[in-house]
Amino acid sequence: MARTDDRQASVSAVEADGTTGRRYARVALDVPIAPCFDYLVPPALDGRIAAGDWVLVPWGRGRKIGIVLGLADTAEIAAEKVRPIMGRVDEAPPSSSAWLELIDFTARYYHRHPGEVMLPAVPKLLRTPPSARQRKESAFARARKRFVAPAGSPSPDMAAAPGLKPAQAEALAALEQGEGFGVFLLHGVTGSGKTEVYLRFIASRLAADPIAQVLVLVPEIALTPQLAERVRARFPGEPIAILHSGLAEGERAASWLAVADGRARILVGTRLAVLAPVPGLAGIIVDEEHDPSYKQQEGVHYSARDLAVLLASQRRIPVVLGSATPSAETWQAARTGRYRLLTLPERASGAPAPRIEVLAIDRDMPPDGLAEAARAAIAEVLADGGQALVFLNRRGYAPVLACGQCGWLSRCDDCSAYRVLHRVAQRRPQAAGGARFRLVCHHCGGEQAVPRGCPACGDTDLRPVGRGTQRLEEALAQTFPEARIARLDRDVARRRGAAEAMLDAVHGGEVDLLVGTQMLAKGHDFQRLRLVVVADPDGALFAADFRAPERLFATLMQVAGRAGRFARDGRVLVQTRFPGEPLFAALQAHDFAGFADRMLAERREAGLPPFGHQALLRTEAAAPDDALGFLGAARDALLAILAATPELAAHVRCFDPVPMPVARLAGRERAQLLVESGSRPLLHRALSRWLPELDGLAGRSRWQLEVDPSEI
Ligand code: ADP
Ligand code: ZN
Ligand code: ZN
Repeated sequence: MARTDDRQASVSAVEADGTTGRRYARVALDVPIAPCFDYLVPPALDGRIAAGDWVLVPWGRGRKIGIVLGLADTAEIAAEKVRPIMGRVDEAPPSSSAWLELIDFTARYYHRHPGEVMLPAVPKLLRTPPSARQRKESAFARARKRFVAPAGSPSPDMAAAPGLKPAQAEALAALEQGEGFGVFLLHGVTGSGKTEVYLRFIASRLAADPIAQVLVLVPEIALTPQLAERVRARFPGEPIAILHSGLAEGERAASWLAVADGRARILVGTRLAVLAPVPGLAGIIVDEEHDPSYKQQEGVHYSARDLAVLLASQRRIPVVLGSATPSAETWQAARTGRYRLLTLPERASGAPAPRIEVLAIDRDMPPDGLAEAARAAIAEVLADGGQALVFLNRRGYAPVLACGQCGWLSRCDDCSAYRVLHRVAQRRPQAAGGARFRLVCHHCGGEQAVPRGCPACGDTDLRPVGRGTQRLEEALAQTFPEARIARLDRDVARRRGAAEAMLDAVHGGEVDLLVGTQMLAKGHDFQRLRLVVVADPDGALFAADFRAPERLFATLMQVAGRAGRFARDGRVLVQTRFPGEPLFAALQAHDFAGFADRMLAERREAGLPPFGHQALLRTEAAAPDDALGFLGAARDALLAILAATPELAAHVRCFDPVPMPVARLAGRERAQLLVESGSRPLLHRALSRWLPELDGLAGRSRWQLEVDPSEI
């Protein structure tokens, strides 16, 4: 697992020290400076340490827990510097070679060290060295005790399960017939019965083998309880583990260990769950596979969806990718037959697809942001006792505050972005004027009071420009004074329990009109909801990121899917200043395939993913010249590598460094450099040669590489 080239370089030097005969362990630690670290195996542990074992090692003046990657007769560092292993963590679950292989692949693919992948994948409680005042019971013992399996019949409870529709039965049969590795795209709109197929698939995998385990990935923490609940209802006797970053440390350790020990046979989790050791893994489900949340945005930028496919191929098992709007990558693979396409063409409830209409609007809109037809449609649904939803993917009151006199705008001091006007909860409801609002930067979190007068010219004519969900909610209350209105966005959800309370009110029939962002679009079954108005999708139409239209289409399909899931007359109104955009025509026709095929043709033309492969070098520095200067030097270094190897030069392309879309963030200047290739192996070969040079060029700039960047 250690990079063999590194090792060979140092072998002879070490042998000359005469240290042969002693055993060394190569230990992965969560430290970015080297692939692994050498420790002496002390006589007491001789013969008891193997690859995959967890060990306690000295690190500086402290201690760390690491995982052994391999053993060697020679050390890479001078023998007198090698320190002995302090102990073996006997309670740790054995690391299977399959898990070590997954980690190794992930580290190589994303060009990081194995320790940076494997240790963050272990819950903190389990990888923290026990303190001197150690409790009698270890973290492992406590975690094992915490996970209690339900007593009940291991067979699924089919009492409430619907009989399968023909398309579902066909999809399930294809999944069950598959031998060994196979990737299946389950393509079906929300409500088409994908989850029912997942549940049957889980049942058949578990029934085939008493030690089989199944991994179910969901894109967001908020979606885990719902799916876990459905799984629990179907498998009342089956221990189910939940893993996501919102769990308390103790719970997370308990879930992780239950899966690693094989006690939990079903694991439902967010992206981080893909890196959990699942010794009996027999099937994987990736729900909403297109969701950008599957891409980790900190540390190692892995794609859990891509790793799920890799994991399935390593373990020779089936993986199901489910979506109404598959990613371009997955759709292309299905079109070319690499993945098997399974389609659920209709809603399982029998309700027809909602009618989608496109409303042309002007730049100047009334305060509630609604076209006349949209307002009339809402009024009609409300009069009839139904629910309506107004979707606006922009939180806050207004995206910017402007001076009517001199044109001053509420820019953030530390970022190249505007501070957003937010209405804040009032401590004293009667408090006067200015204190009700604040300016908040969505990038750095910086906040300030709203100035009384314009900071530039002193004029008091400061006006909000544009509309966020708070302002929309306020204006809708004016337009529909009788309606009970509720809002859901990240600002609401930040208060503990507030989102749940809001959703309960909606389900309880206490809400007529919902206002909200993306948070409302995902996964909720609103029984009385008959109308969705998309207030302003235009920002995403012409965004710089080439994936923006793909994301917009997915979001609109998802939010449209909320309308009339149970009624026969679901209706969706999309307001736009660009009604002629082909994206809207495809949306109206519920034609994902048409939209995706056109998008893929454009991507092919431009050499963009999935036809080209990308890596993005990002940097940040105190001064813009430092950031761009480093990337300029990095580009020159890459060009020199390419020039020396004709094969690389012919297939790998390096762009010019550019500032990032939000160039300044929290006072740091950020820039990026894109590298592209039609060949994945050649791209990676170039990266492997290039990356070792970067630290020497970086000076005081910090850098990080993202393979398959999700945002550009
Ligand atoms: P999806 O996961 O595609 O959104 P679900 O599996 O959640 O779809 O199904 C949507 C709704 O339809 C659920 O209430 C589910 O119980 C119901 N349903 C699923 N399959 C069937 C079926 N074959 N017959 C009747 N109802 C079904
Ligand atoms: Zn001014
Ligand atoms: Zn800022």
